[in-house]
Amino acid sequence: MNNTLPPVEIPQPAPRSSRPEIMAEEIIERLTYRIGKDAKVAKPHDWLTAAILVVRDRIIDKWMESTRKVYRTGDKRVYYLSLEFLIGRLMRDAVSNMELLSEIKDALASLGVDIDVIAGLEPDAALGNGGLGRLAACFMESMATVDIPAYGYGIRYVHGLFRQQMADGWQVELPENWLAHGNPWEFERRESSYEIGFGGSVESVGGYDDPPRFVWKPAERFIAMAYDTPIVGWRGKRVNTLRLWSAQPIDPILLDAFNAGDHIGALRESNKAETLTRVLYPADANPAGQELRLRQEYFFSSASLQDILRRHLQQYPDFTNLHEKVSIQLNDTHPAISIAELIRLLCDVHGMDFDLAWDVTRQTFSYTNHTLLPEALESWPVPLFERLLPRHMQIIYAINTKILLDARKEKKFGDSQIRAISLIDEGGDRRVRMGNLAFVGSHSINGVSALHTDLMKETVFADLHSLYPNRINNKTNGITPRRWLMQCNPGLTNLLREAIGPEFEDNTEALRALDSFADDSAFQQKFAEVKRQNKVQLANLVAGRMGIRIDPSAMFDIQIKRIHEYKRQLLNIVEAVALYDQIRSHPELDWVPRVKFFAGKAAPSYHNAKLIIKLANDVARVINNDPAVRGLLKVVFIPNYNVSLAEVMVPAADLSEQISTAGMEASGTGNMKFGLNGALTIGTLDGANVEMRDHVGEENIVIFGMTADEVARVRSEGHNPRAIIEQSRELAQALQAISSGVFSPDDRSRFTALIDGIYNHDWFMVAGDFDAYAKAQRDVDQIWADPVSWYGKTIRNTARMGWFSSDRTIRQYASEIWRA
Ligand SMILES: *Cc1c(COP(=O)(O)O)cnc(C)c1O
Repeated sequence: MNNTLPPVEIPQPAPRSSRPEIMAEEIIERLTYRIGKDAKVAKPHDWLTAAILVVRDRIIDKWMESTRKVYRTGDKRVYYLSLEFLIGRLMRDAVSNMELLSEIKDALASLGVDIDVIAGLEPDAALGNGGLGRLAACFMESMATVDIPAYGYGIRYVHGLFRQQMADGWQVELPENWLAHGNPWEFERRESSYEIGFGGSVESVGGYDDPPRFVWKPAERFIAMAYDTPIVGWRGKRVNTLRLWSAQPIDPILLDAFNAGDHIGALRESNKAETLTRVLYPADANPAGQELRLRQEYFFSSASLQDILRRHLQQYPDFTNLHEKVSIQLNDTHPAISIAELIRLLCDVHGMDFDLAWDVTRQTFSYTNHTLLPEALESWPVPLFERLLPRHMQIIYAINTKILLDARKEKKFGDSQIRAISLIDEGGDRRVRMGNLAFVGSHSINGVSALHTDLMKETVFADLHSLYPNRINNKTNGITPRRWLMQCNPGLTNLLREAIGPEFEDNTEALRALDSFADDSAFQQKFAEVKRQNKVQLANLVAGRMGIRIDPSAMFDIQIKRIHEYKRQLLNIVEAVALYDQIRSHPELDWVPRVKFFAGKAAPSYHNAKLIIKLANDVARVINNDPAVRGLLKVVFIPNYNVSLAEVMVPAADLSEQISTAGMEASGTGNMKFGLNGALTIGTLDGANVEMRDHVGEENIVIFGMTADEVARVRSEGHNPRAIIEQSRELAQALQAISSGVFSPDDRSRFTALIDGIYNHDWFMVAGDFDAYAKAQRDVDQIWADPVSWYGKTIRNTARMGWFSSDRTIRQYASEIWRA
């Protein structure tokens, strides 16, 4: 007899209405019953939370639909593992992608609340350093937009990237407390918790005939708990999940210790767990290198892999088809330990044979490389690795044996190539090379621009590429046009819609139609007017925050990005000093009024980067206060660069500075944001600038300086910066002025060592490229002096940058790597 109950029809909630009066009612309902506030006394933050909850409900409907769909279809899932997600604010993104902007605005207005005021209160989620983390955020939005069932996995840092303040022109780092008011976007998932171990020992068990099974007995254990944030695609087509892990203690309180009177010791486990996911390492393009960092990497990798395997087993009987149903993309080497972790879970926990596990693993993983700088490649001392992850160390040795056997079979490899291929760096102290692990454990290794991918094959991975010649491929980065055009630049978006219709909203490459308006003088007028309004907004921000008045009719020349010697903010500042000198020496000439804007954070331990910030501020003080300049040049360093500040600065730029030493910027994405918003780029042939030139046309971009090949040649043949400086009076004078303390009368030798670096080795080719850069800047002045030419070029930039949408990038990942 079958005694099961008849199936119950579970009623589904009716989709929610988007009528403003209904939403207004709901906002009051959330305010009252969820937040517990009377509308009469509610603070702006309460209104923000209530509004987010109302939008969030509408997202949830789509979220559940998206999740159900993938269970139904059995489609492949894509997992994007990244130690960083530089998300920024979500309110405008969610509202705009759900197409609720005017409705929610009206609903709030009917309650006497200005949406712009409360939207500005949302904290800027900075769970990342720079380009790599922002790429992950753009990809999450694009994967939802192009309807790929995807999960982002990362860490829910309590403190994201530090808040930057200026004290007398020096960077000061303050903790960023983005969770202070709670986070209405996230859902705590107590049921999605996994145990994560560290340290201890490995035992092998098994009979005489069976191969041994290994059991890891960790000495320390923590719980990884999930927090989910829904990520909405354009027009709400699909909602994916960003799942961030938080560390919890297994024993929140050690009662024995507590009862024995050791109240602090009783919280030991709790504190250790909290430390694990408390802060994001503020290092950008250089490895953080501390034990806690390796712990963070393993913690989130293991939690994510356990979660992926659990989900797979809900639908399939075993893991032999894992690679057909799962793709795991590693954003840089930070999650590369996942490769060893998957093998451990498959073999030790689920009993799969090693060779099969290795096969499945390689077909499941793919890896994105973000840097070529040899000093930036992650590696860990073998003793540390062995102590923290003893079983993974064994697995890495086992993989290495296989790989080196492969390599030995190919007679072409000599000892030096074998050494380069090995997962263990045997030169000096022995280290585990995470780049090599990521490479051999993946079926696809991609660079992030055409140039970077070529250089990857020739440099860091030359020998691995020769062993596995079909694995390296290119996926040029992109940016989401929703955040980086439609949301941050509504003025331009409206103008575009008026001119070429709405197609570009769903296909950014349709912006091409704008080409035919590039020389239309009525359109140029409107384009210029939109730019002017955006510049007024930035001028207001600068006036409000810094008390500096700037003229919106001056050229806005902007360099915003992490402060790094290879990005060459120093080249820009030296040129500002040279220009300052010229303006004073030649008052009779017709100088183009310019404001040079800078913004960016320096890694707290990066001495020269912090000194460059101080230099920018010292130079700004002198130039901005010198009446002889007659307002023709201003220098402004805006503190605390983040996504929200970028959203104001990018639409206001006339000139975009993308001037890295050629061969050193893997792609850049800041360059794309500016081009799309109608700025002219001054840049080197580096990263994606090369492809930008191909797309916008070389007459619509100002390229200068050495190529990557020339930089490599000069470095190997010997560079003589001193001779170059002696040949260039402008450069010599500017360097002399900085070095001798003209801008730092309180400490005349403050910048001497920094400038000596240019004289002595000039690794970043500041002297090497100076003349070409200064000349390119005067070319820019000439174009500016002819507005018809200027707007013709900048309009063509907007028209031809559509290819750099992250939707295009994601489609390429999906068809060529994930086959999803
Ligand atoms: C886009 C972006 C970056 C990356 O800028 P690059 O110029 O490519 O280095 C860094 N930080 C923030 C906040 C960004 O929005």
